[in-house]
Amino acid sequence: MHQYHTPKKSWINIDSNSDFSLANLPYGVFSIPGTNPRVGVAVGQHILDLAALFNLGFFADLGLDKNPFASHNLNEFMALGRPVWTKTRQGLLNLLDAQNPELSQKTEIHPQVLIPQADAQMLMPVQVPNYTDFYSSQEHATNVGKMFRPDGEPLLPNWKHIPVGYHGRASSILVSGTPIRRPWGQLLPPDANTPVFAPCRLLDFELEMAFVVGKPNPLGDPISVNHAEDHMFGMVIFNDWSARDIQKWEYVPLGPFLAKNFASSISPWVVTLDALQPFRCPAPQQDLEPLPYLKESDRHTFDINLSVSILPQNGEEGQVCQSNFKYLYWTMAQQLAHHTVNGCNTQVGDMYASGTISGKEQSSFGSMLELSWKGSRKVTLPGGQERTFIQDGDTVIMRAFALKDGLRIGFGEVRSIVLPAHPKNA
Ligand code: MN
Repeated sequence: MHQYHTPKKSWINIDSNSDFSLANLPYGVFSIPGTNPRVGVAVGQHILDLAALFNLGFFADLGLDKNPFASHNLNEFMALGRPVWTKTRQGLLNLLDAQNPELSQKTEIHPQVLIPQADAQMLMPVQVPNYTDFYSSQEHATNVGKMFRPDGEPLLPNWKHIPVGYHGRASSILVSGTPIRRPWGQLLPPDANTPVFAPCRLLDFELEMAFVVGKPNPLGDPISVNHAEDHMFGMVIFNDWSARDIQKWEYVPLGPFLAKNFASSISPWVVTLDALQPFRCPAPQQDLEPLPYLKESDRHTFDINLSVSILPQNGEEGQVCQSNFKYLYWTMAQQLAHHTVNGCNTQVGDMYASGTISGKEQSSFGSMLELSWKGSRKVTLPGGQERTFIQDGDTVIMRAFALKDGLRIGFGEVRSIVLPAHPKNA
């Protein structure tokens, strides 16, 4: 990875506890009423409008004729490749340096290029051609195994050899703030032999993170595990909504389908792998040696704190889970190497989600399925309300940040309210 020169201080005021510190510079797509969507970077409580900066000549050194930031998504910018990502990041760090008058002194253009986040609407940052969901948390897979196959080994024999996953649905990946409708579907009521068609009764979140591919591989050309991170542009928080009762009835033998494809919610800011480098840490030791194509010469992951809160309608927000990305048994590099080892091609904007990220403690379980142990125990919220699964009117909020030696890199949040099932099916 490139070594960046990061200035100590910016001329933009950034709170010390802001997710969007000078060393973060996550990319997103925003609009303000009456204007076109465009690419920006979050800095403190502001958005730096990259499309406007480009038009003002600030990115001349990129040598581009066309403005890649005057776009409805990050795909065009990502497709330009790592040399452009690197130049852009270093250019932004320089422009934001308190010592550099280049932009700081041009106060007359500040209203044009520096937009308060409060005035902007965040949009889907990426056009997602393909989405895959992994199942890479040993604790989550073990919990689910115990609940659904109480008489067998919790982990199936393949689990420690393969980063298990399935191809998900890209069209229903939604940006934070988009309401989620409780889905209808086939469910098998307890003690029944035939299914009914009804609104999902066991609606759940899954606490996940996802990486976005910025450098694709052509068909037939696998990505090696030791070069996999070169292909990743950045990461988002990923809430993989799940209808547990629909899932239980439909998943045999081909796996998740309508229980998963109605919605997945992501945070609007894509935090780059460049920004996450200070938070590299060892990944859990694998107790079964993986096959050579999954063996990393420098096995690592990232230390990212995760949490989930529920805000009931007319209630008080309460945290129900705290976990960490570093708990995952299979790393992102192993996931991508496995995904492409058969020659499968990836595309710019593809999203690869981790699977539910649970830790060892009950308080770190990343789904209501686990927190309520299949509905058998109630989770109490601060206002005294109890939950086993998600109710209509609940807002689910996931947050993520990394913190080390005073340096904070945050993802912001993904927040979605659950609406009642659509009446038209009734
Ligand atoms: Mn999932």
